Amino acid sequence: MRVLIIEDNDRLSLLLAEGLTRRGFSCDVAGSLTSAADHIAVTAYDVLVLDLGLPDGDGVDWLKSLPALHAPVLVLTARASVGERIIGLDAGADDYIVKPADPDEIAARLRALLRRPGSREPTLIEVGELTFDPAAREARFRDAPLRLGRREAALLEVLMKRPDAVVSREAIETALYSWDDAVSANALEATASRLRRRLADAGAGGLIHVVRGVGYYLGEVAN
Ligand code: CA
Repeated sequence: MRVLIIEDNDRLSLLLAEGLTRRGFSCDVAGSLTSAADHIAVTAYDVLVLDLGLPDGDGVDWLKSLPALHAPVLVLTARASVGERIIGLDAGADDYIVKPADPDEIAARLRALLRRPGSREPTLIEVGELTFDPAAREARFRDAPLRLGRREAALLEVLMKRPDAVVSREAIETALYSWDDAVSANALEATASRLRRRLADAGAGGLIHVVRGVGYYLGEVAN
C-alpha cells in the first residue's frame, strides 16, 4: 500500500514514514503542498496523510481545491477542536487524527480507510490455498504461516490481487519501493527469488512466474 505523507516537520515525517514502513506501507514524503501535487501527478497513492499547517498553504483549502481524488485522506494535525475537525471533514478528509499520534494507531486508521466499501483493499486475499491478510501482513499456505520479509510480503500481495495476470515490473516497483529507496536493477529479481524459495519451502513451489522484461504473475496454485 503506497502512502503519501504531506508534513513539513522533517523529524515527524521521518518517524511516521519509518513507523508505517515497518507496518507494511510504502511511504513517500512531501514537505509542502506544491511537492504533494507533484507526487500525486505521477504516482497513484492508496491513501494520503495530510498535515494542515504547511509552508505554502493550508491543507483544508488545498483539499477543497483538489479535483476528484481517488485516494482517501487522513488528516493529521495539532488542531484539536471539534470545530476544526468538522471543517477538515467537510473539506473532504476521510478521517482525522490529532497529534501526537502513535504510528500503530495511524496504521490502524489507514487500514480502516482502505477497507471501506469501494476502496481497493480487501480484508483477506485468497488464491487457492494461499491467503494474505493485508492488515496483519501475514501470508498462509494451507493455513500454515509463511515467514516473509516486508518486500517479499508486498510482492506476494501485489501478485495475489491479480492472480493469473501479468503485473508489470513498473507497477510492482511502484507498490514496493518509495522514491527515496535506492533500488538496484536486480532488487526485484532478488526479492522474487527469496519469495519463491519461501513458498517452495512451504510446499507451494512453482507459483511465481516471470515474463522476461515484462513482469511477474502468480499462476496455478500447486496441489
Ligand atoms: Ca505543519
